[in-house]
Amino acid sequence: MPKAKKKYLDVSVAPELLIELKQKQNDTPGGTMEKYGRFKNWLRYANLKGWQEQKWHWGYVNYAGREWHCTCGLVIPMGAKAEVGGLAQLDLDAAHRARGHRSLPDFGEVVVAFIYDYKWMEERGVYYYDAFCQVCGDYVLERPGRQADMFADIHNISCG
Ligand SMILES: [Zn+2]
Ligand SMILES: [Zn+2]
Repeated sequence: MPKAKKKYLDVSVAPELLIELKQKQNDTPGGTMEKYGRFKNWLRYANLKGWQEQKWHWGYVNYAGREWHCTCGLVIPMGAKAEVGGLAQLDLDAAHRARGHRSLPDFGEVVVAFIYDYKWMEERGVYYYDAFCQVCGDYVLERPGRQADMFADIHNISCG
């Protein structure tokens, strides 16, 4: 079966952009809607960059109700047939069920195993990660970053 051609967007966030957006926010008089708007704009890109550095894939943009955009730039048409079925016990979104994700944070090779969720562990003061493999269906829940990365690396070698 020929693989469907995947569409990608450039969703990389240059450090200079964050500095520029922060500067714009600082240059705007306090207590105004404009300042709040500029803060929100900075936050949007700062969040995106943070998620990419955590290697977290998810459909963070609903574009005009027509498509989802993943943090790696993969575009998933709304209502597209899921390419990864099953795994009902995991809380997967439409992006997670599409193939063709690119590795984060470098937007490199296509990956089949990746982090799909994370959780702040209050008592430990760290994030724990959930990762799964689109090919064999194996997954890990609430693992330290290094363990979740190792899980993904192993599956991307053996299942990718
Ligand atoms: Zn992705
Ligand atoms: Zn696998």
